Amino acid sequence: MRDKLDIIEVICPRCHRIETVYLPFKAPPRCVACDVRMVLKERLDEKIRA
Ligand SMILES: [Zn+2]
Repeated sequence: MRDKLDIIEVICPRCHRIETVYLPFKAPPRCVACDVRMVLKERLDEKIRA
C-alpha cells in the first residue's frame, strides 16, 4: 500500500525555472517561458497528510 505521493522536480535547461510535478504525469513537463522540455532534477518522496 502506498501512502505517499511521488513528486519530482524538473528544471528548465535554459532559464533554470524549477517546477514540481506529481507522478504519474500525463505529458512531459515543458517550461512555460521557453517551451522546451524540462529535465528531471531530482526525485523527492514526500508524505502528504490530508
Ligand atoms: Zn525555461
